[in-house]
Amino acid sequence: MNVFVVNCGSSSLKYQLINSDTEEVIAKGLCERIGIDGRLTHNPVGKETYVSETAMPDHKTAVSLVLDALTDSEHGVINDLSEIGAVGHRVVHGGEKFASSVVITDAVIKAIEECNDLAPLHNPANLIGISACKALMPDVPMVAVFDTAFHQSMPEKAYMYGLPYGYYENYKVRKYGFHGTSHSFVSKRLIELIGKENSESKVIICHLGNGSSITAVKDGKSVDTSMGFTPLDGLIMGTRSGSIDPAVVQYLADKLNVSLDEVINILNKKSGVEGISGVSSDFRDLHSASEAGNKRATIALEMFAYRVAQYIGSYVAAMNGVDAIAFTAGIGENNTAMRRMIIGYLEYLGISLDKEANEKRGEEIMISTKDSKVKVYVIPTNEELAIARETLALI
Ligand code: ADP
Repeated sequence: MNVFVVNCGSSSLKYQLINSDTEEVIAKGLCERIGIDGRLTHNPVGKETYVSETAMPDHKTAVSLVLDALTDSEHGVINDLSEIGAVGHRVVHGGEKFASSVVITDAVIKAIEECNDLAPLHNPANLIGISACKALMPDVPMVAVFDTAFHQSMPEKAYMYGLPYGYYENYKVRKYGFHGTSHSFVSKRLIELIGKENSESKVIICHLGNGSSITAVKDGKSVDTSMGFTPLDGLIMGTRSGSIDPAVVQYLADKLNVSLDEVINILNKKSGVEGISGVSSDFRDLHSASEAGNKRATIALEMFAYRVAQYIGSYVAAMNGVDAIAFTAGIGENNTAMRRMIIGYLEYLGISLDKEANEKRGEEIMISTKDSKVKVYVIPTNEELAIARETLALI
């Protein structure tokens, strides 16, 4: 069966068509500038990339153009829409309502709407994608896969904040965590690789990309994670500050004479390694700048590695041990120098780096030496495949 995987943003839509029997991608692509003008980049596997600048006033038009591209006689990959057996939608926030993926019904749509306040930029866009697909493929079953669901297994002591309890009861202020699809996918694979049963494993997953988070996974379940109420918390990221003293928010608003909204915008978009270095949010640029003697780029890289190592240490404490650690996402899979810097902090765990293995990029490999007490792996993440698997399992 072919599963259509949809990741809808406010002005973009990423998609993949995956053959669920072979798990191969048949086509993938991206609609950009929806509601502005519109640009479709469609990559049918084995054929030439097709780019079209047709107007996309709304998401329904975008989905319709994607479906046309998929069934087109030249750059298409299927004959007609009956060859799409199911649709899997990435949904950012499931609040406390969803601890796993679900088949989309009217009640599910309503429940996702009720989480809109928690992710005002993302959930409404995800819902628009769902309704656009429903309108064009009314009889095809659809599944929602949530970024937050995997972390619903966290215990209260991990997800509660030290705030008056009523704010949790009345406003649902708590840690939710994100990147759940990736943490779930990579932790399952890691547990398989180290030959442990789900019921007796302790692993730590470092998803290090533009957005970064770390999760402690005990017996196959998330027990703590570094992102919080929003993805702003935790690690220092490309442009996000990660954890800071919350009092800084008001202080900066006063000093800069800007609104609290603007300070949050600065913490999300102008901070992190980009803000620290003044160079870039891309780690390749940071390493080049650092090698050329740029001190702030060096500090940014050191701060990033230090914070990752601190979280790993705190999660070893949370689980009273760790069997294995995995690196994934853009930086985790490709940035050999950053992996070396982070692992440099982990000697106390009996980890030593296999320097030759660590030079490999973007492939599944063990990068700790054979005699390391705790094993360290690189495991490429694949959120679209994870969504396709979840979708197939539910329909
Ligand atoms: P997103 O969170 O947007 O999905 P990715 O997981 O694609 O991000 O990660 C993007 C980051 O990965 C980039 O900022 C870049 O710094 C890093 N990256 C990708 N390839 C390399 C590489 N070869 N060396 C160092 N860093 C890399």
